[in-house]
Amino acid sequence: MLGNRRSRKAKPYADTVAPAGVVFHVHEVTKIYRMGEVEVHALQEVDLDLYEREFVVLLGPSGSGKSTLLNILGGLDMPSSGHVFFRDRDLTHASDAELTRFRRDCVGFVFQFYNLIPSLTARENVALVTEIARRPMPPKQALELVGLGDRLDHFPAQLSGGEQQRVAIARAIVKRPEVLLCDEPTGALDFQTGKLVLEALAQVNRELGTTTAVITHNAGIAAMADRVVTMRSGKISRVQCNETKVSPAELEW
Ligand code: ADP
Repeated sequence: MLGNRRSRKAKPYADTVAPAGVVFHVHEVTKIYRMGEVEVHALQEVDLDLYEREFVVLLGPSGSGKSTLLNILGGLDMPSSGHVFFRDRDLTHASDAELTRFRRDCVGFVFQFYNLIPSLTARENVALVTEIARRPMPPKQALELVGLGDRLDHFPAQLSGGEQQRVAIARAIVKRPEVLLCDEPTGALDFQTGKLVLEALAQVNRELGTTTAVITHNAGIAAMADRVVTMRSGKISRVQCNETKVSPAELEW
């Protein structure tokens, strides 16, 4: 994959560099997965900017390209064509080492499943990240930010699903990343527990100013976002700004 990227002829892109306030600038991004004879067009010429401090919800049916877009933003995958700028850096021209630094220093990831280490406490799971981060906050502070100040020394098996997900959020933000990318963070949780996880994400966004993008297939979550990006068949079909945001506690779905 990376070999293909390097051999591709660079297009002129000086006019597409992100202006101030834009964290991600996605320009005509296409992603094609090839499986033998079959080509899947997961993204088709997608354009999108994400701004400092905003909370964006990515909506759309299964298979519409949400995870592919999030993985490309996070430097986990590369487009087949097009450009992705993080600030003024073109990720599609980054070396493997630069991409690793980008992921390590700038991006927090939260997935549907928490992937905590069972033999480590909440605090120890979070502390693992601080050992490789440039300017981490104390693990206790990250856990307090997600409402788990009283669960520092619990092991994952002693925590509910929602609490484990909040430990995963604390682990993602303890390094103070500029962006937090969440793929179905409430997908495995019931309604009330899901709301607590969304409250933790909203709190992180408010307190740390972390640009946050959350994938969901649950349209009820859209009301807590600054902007809602809807995807359909590999394209952005709609971008909607919410004039007022609903707090997660008041969400209905
Ligand atoms: P969503 O997150 O909206 O459910 P995805 O981004 O996961 O959508 O998938 C978009 C399309 O790309 C789907 O048709 C999916 O099957 C396909 N796809 C995703 N990842 C891969 C992959 N690694 N290899 C082949 N096809 C993939």
